[in-house]
Parts: sequence; structure tokens; C-alpha cells
Amino acid sequence: MQNSGIVYFSAEFGLDESLPIYSGGLGILAGDHVKAAADLKIPLTGVGIFYGKGYFQQRIDEGGSQQHLYPEIDLEESVYPVRLVRDDNGRPLIIEVPLNGRQVYAKTWSVQVGSVTLYLLNTDVETNSEADRRLTDTLYPGNQDVRISQEILLGIGGTRLLAALGIHPEVWHMNEGHCAFLSLERIRMLSAEGVPFETALEVVKASTVFTTHTPVPAGHDVFSIDMMDRYFGDYYWQLGADRERVLSLGRMDGAFNMTRLAVSTSSKVNGVSKLHGEVTRELFHRWMPHIPVRDIPVDSVTNGIHTGTWLAAGMKELFDRHLPSDWALRAAEPEVWAAVRDIPDIELWEEHQRAKSKMLQAFGLPLSSEGGGPLIIGFARRFATYKRALLIFSDSERLARILGDPNRPVVLILAGKAHPSDGPGQELIRKIVELSREERFKDRVHIVENYAMDKAKLLVQGVDVWLNTPLKPMEASGTSGQKAALNGVLNCSVLDGWWEEGYNGRNGWAIESAIDGDPELQTKQDTEVLYRLLEEEIIPLFYKRGDRMIPMEWVDRMKESICSLAPVYNTHRMVNDYWHKLYVPTSARGKRFAADNLEVASRVAAYKQFIRNSWSVQVRNVDIHENNSSGNGMTKFSAEIQLGAIWHGDVRVEAVGSDGHRGIWKVILEPVQQQAKGLYVYEGASPNIPINNIWKANANVRVTPISPDFANDFEMELSAWG
Ligand SMILES: *Cc1c(COP(=O)(O)O)cnc(C)c1O
Repeated sequence: MQNSGIVYFSAEFGLDESLPIYSGGLGILAGDHVKAAADLKIPLTGVGIFYGKGYFQQRIDEGGSQQHLYPEIDLEESVYPVRLVRDDNGRPLIIEVPLNGRQVYAKTWSVQVGSVTLYLLNTDVETNSEADRRLTDTLYPGNQDVRISQEILLGIGGTRLLAALGIHPEVWHMNEGHCAFLSLERIRMLSAEGVPFETALEVVKASTVFTTHTPVPAGHDVFSIDMMDRYFGDYYWQLGADRERVLSLGRMDGAFNMTRLAVSTSSKVNGVSKLHGEVTRELFHRWMPHIPVRDIPVDSVTNGIHTGTWLAAGMKELFDRHLPSDWALRAAEPEVWAAVRDIPDIELWEEHQRAKSKMLQAFGLPLSSEGGGPLIIGFARRFATYKRALLIFSDSERLARILGDPNRPVVLILAGKAHPSDGPGQELIRKIVELSREERFKDRVHIVENYAMDKAKLLVQGVDVWLNTPLKPMEASGTSGQKAALNGVLNCSVLDGWWEEGYNGRNGWAIESAIDGDPELQTKQDTEVLYRLLEEEIIPLFYKRGDRMIPMEWVDRMKESICSLAPVYNTHRMVNDYWHKLYVPTSARGKRFAADNLEVASRVAAYKQFIRNSWSVQVRNVDIHENNSSGNGMTKFSAEIQLGAIWHGDVRVEAVGSDGHRGIWKVILEPVQQQAKGLYVYEGASPNIPINNIWKANANVRVTPISPDFANDFEMELSAWG
């Protein structure tokens, strides 16, 4: 039996433009994660889908309409070696999955990324019906049946594939909820060996990590219960539980929610930036309203980018000359990058000019690069509406004045695809094409077709300023700005996602953006800040030339940007964080739960069932008062707790209150007296709480079931308040 470290499931992987099986940031992140794992020799295996036609190739016609081309992917073109996975007899390995009452077959491509293997399932095999052969043609189909089929193939098929390959992962990492059916399949496999459902669930949970990327409820993958019944009607019972129990793992607002399923079946959950961690806690709080936002067990690991993929070749040579020789291996160490400050200004500036010229040439843009050329602002990403591509055009007259100054010209380059079924996204493209044709924007606004990794590289290396104006807090992290920063391109961005923690006042520009529930007003304010930054800070700084026409202060900022951001927002740091915060503890936990014939898992399952069945806990007679007898202002708490059949050692009793800002305070209460069977008096005291009537009013006593075997304080999502 091969013990195979970590398995990383993702619906998309962006490794290279020659393998276009990604649509945007999520896929690029997965690709960069895999590459960093290979660099760091982390034992990781990837599982995904090979989309025969990939994400579409974009053409923009005369009228600004996006055309979708689907050329068959040519595997000969892939820069990573791709092979068909075969069984011991040399025949293609075929995986079967049940889909809506029929069997569907899938073959597997393996892609080698250094030491990491990526397995990609694909249903284009002869034994399938014509319709089933097309199931894995494209990414994120609009049709719900095709979509659930792909997710069943990814989760259930992927798990079956690993079993067929003899791979037994210690840690299962779900990158976004699309793959979460894998947990059901793992439970089914255990059930087939005679393991009871609740125990199997504990085994699965203990060894699973979930990374969420979606800051809004609308972004979650949701299937109707009807649809679940159609696809899983003959599957529920195979898990050893009734339909209701299985559905309860994902049931939310009358439907089956893949994010909920992922949360229910993992022991660690993380968002992809600090701010996104908080936003996610607020989102999940709606699902667990009796747990305060602060206590929702969601961690965060901020996204990074793979330095080797995104750094311009010329810039890499410059770093090779000036940084310690092993800088690439030590990319997560700030000391290594400090040497950027000592690079002569002229060398850094000229290297950037080379990247700029290369980009202009590649895009066939007739712009002079004399003396640094015009200030070029880049805006490129998926044309999803929350990213507000049109924000900079809000006051088109003012923008025309900004761009059109003959002494200080400014050029805007935009690029991006809108999902084929995203009408409003495609409308944005049409609008931008229309604007770019206006006389006042001629030669000042350019749109580049078919944004993909190749175009992204040219842009993040070649523009001067990287603009990002999402509607805060909709950007979970964003990564393109990190690619830009690495290359000495300065960010001007809404303080959302990673930039909220990356911006230090000297390494770019920030649009603070106040979230006040009125998106229109927010957009108006953000636009004003953006124009002001351009007019008063960015453009003057860029055109303030010193010796040999070098903008010294600008170059200073470039250095500050590289030094402060490159060591943090890279995938070496990120994968290291995943390793220490998530993979190592989860691997230990998974092993502990599975050891000795699943002893801990069975115990935890039985314990949870007992607590759930016996939970009728009540909190009464809460009393909070100041005790000045000792002279130093102690606050004392007491409460009567009716525990019923539950032992006092199995609960934590605490006073919980708001600190008047966004935090909470807690004081532990201990049992001091048993009044009757199952009825206790609890007391606690704290010197730290400045009690007054307001504070008293929002202090409450909470009882929560605990166990040293729980992954977090709120694992049962259960508590009683009084
Ligand atoms: C990096 C990258 C993204 C992510 O962009 P953000 O808007 O910063 O999240 C999307 N698409 C491509 C092609 C990229 O290279």
C-alpha cells in the first residue's frame, strides 16, 4: 500500500496556456500550488478534469461581441508531459461512475509537473453514449445536469481513480466545493467494508481540508434536492445512512450546497486572505447563527503566486546578479529580497523598459517606448461584474482628460474573458470596445483579445501600474496584482483581498473603499479616489524625472513593492503555510482517527451521537456583578446549568460578551455545586472586564460540548445560551 501524502482536488488547473483547462484565478492558484509543491518536494498528487475543448478561445468581433471558439486541445502542444494512464495490462485505465441511473466511463490523463503527478479524468471514451462523451468537453457548463455530472465525476470518479491506482492519501485537500462529493464516496467505500456511517464520517472529516474561495452566497454551487435524488437515489443507502442524514451534510435553504457539504466533511476550513477569512466567518455565521462570528472556525492562508512562472526572464537575470545565488529557493525569506534595494536604479528601470517593449511588440501596439514611453495602466482578469471593469470609465470626460494630456500621456490596456453564459460580463466587453473607438480614447484605450496565461505574463511584466477595482469585499484574494508586484509593477487597487494586508503605504496605492451596503455609492466614492490618485499622485510621480530621465521616486516605490511583497505573496510561503497549519496537523489527526481499527473515530462518533440525543441543556439565573470587596474590581459571574444526562466534564461553560468593537471576551465558569442530579451552579470571575450597564447587557452564558478529540471548539455546531 502506497501512502501518498496529500491529494489536491480542483475543478481547474492553470499550469500553462498550452493546457487551457482553467478559467481564471482559481485554476491559476491550483496550478501554482502544484508547481510549488513540486519545488518544495512536498508529496502531493493532483486530481482534476481534462476538458477536451478546454476553456474557450476568445475573439472579439467588430461590434464588441465575444465569440467563443472551442478548438480541440492538442496534447502534443503541452509543455508538460501528458500520458494516458494504463492498467497493468497496458489497456487504458477506465473508471466507472454512476450518473442518473446509468454507468459512465472515464479515462485518465496524467500530467507530470516535476515530482507532482496530476490526474485528469475525461469521459470521451467509446463505451459511453455520444452525450456522455461530451460531458467533460468544457468548464463550468451552464446546464445543471452537465455540471452535477462533472462534479460527480471529479469527486466520486477521482476517489475511485486513486483507489484503482493504489494511492491512499493521508490528507485530502478540497480546493473549492466543486469536488466535495469525494467525501461521500470515501464514506461509501468505508461503509462497504462494514464501517458505520457516523464512524466513517469521522474518519473522512479527520483527514480532510477545505479551502473556500467564494465570498458571496450566490457563488456557491447549489443543486436542488430533486436533482440530488435523481443522481443519488440509488447511492444514499450505500453510505449506510438514510437519505435525510446524507442530505443533511449539505442541506441549506432547501437545496444541497456544495460548500456546506465541504464544511461538514472537513476538520479544517480556510479562506484565501485574512479579510476573506473574516468574510467567510460572517457567511458561515448565517448557517450557524448561535455561534458568534468571531468563533466560527475558519482560518486563512493568503494566496501567493509561483515566482518561477510569473517573473520576467530579464528580471530573473537581474535578480540572479544582485540577490543571493539561492534566492529562488529561499523566495519566502524577506532578507533575500532586501538586496533589491541595492540594485542600481538605472538597471531596474531599464529592465522594466525591456519588459514593457516586449509587451507592446507582442500586442502590436504602436506606442513609443522612448524615455519610458507613456504611463501604461493594465487591467486584466475575468470580466465578472463584481470586478467593475468599467469603474475607471465612470466619468468618461475626466478620464479622457487624464489619458489625453499630450505632455503626460497615459494608456489603458484591458483584457479578459467573460464566461460564455455571463451576459452582463459580455456586455462589459462590448461597452469597453465601444469606448475605445471614441475619438478621445483612440490610441489611449486598448483591449487585448483572448486573455490567458501567456497574455497575463506579458501584461503583469510590462505595464507600469496594475489596476484592480473590485467591489469590496467580493475579491476573495486576487493574485494578478501579486504577479505584477514581483515584476516591479506598482499596484493601484481597492483594499480588498490580499491587498488589504499587502499594502503598506509605500508599495503602491490603495483605494480604501468603505463597505456600507450601497454598492452604487461605494462605486462612486471609489471612482473619485481612483481619479484623485491618478491625477495627484501616480501620474506626477511617473513623470517626475531625474538623472538620465529616470523617475527616481517611482523606482524607489518599485523596490519597496518588490521587497515588501515578493517574499510574502508567493506560493513557497503559501504552500509552507498549508503544510504547517493544515497538512501536518490533519495528517496526524487522520492517522490517529484511523488507528487501531478506527478506535478514535468510533469513539468520537458515539460521543457526538450521545451528546446530540441528550442535548436539552438550559442556562438559568445568570448573575453578573462587580465585587469590590477585595478592592480590585473583580467581575463575578454565576449561572445555574441544567445538563441533564450530560457529564459536566463534557461541556465548557463560559460568559461571553461583546467588547463593543468587533471582538468578544470570554470568561470560563467552573462547577462549584451540584444542586440536584444534572443541575449545577457554575461560577467564574475576571479582573479584566470593565463592567458597566452596556457591557452587562450583552454578556451571556454559553454551554458548548467539548472533547479533546474535536478539531475545534465548535465542532458540533451546538451550544445553549442563557
Ligand atoms: C492570475 C490570473 C488570474 C487571476 O486574476 P485576479 O483577478 O487577480 O484574481 C486570472 N486569469 C489569468 C489568466 C491569470 O493569469
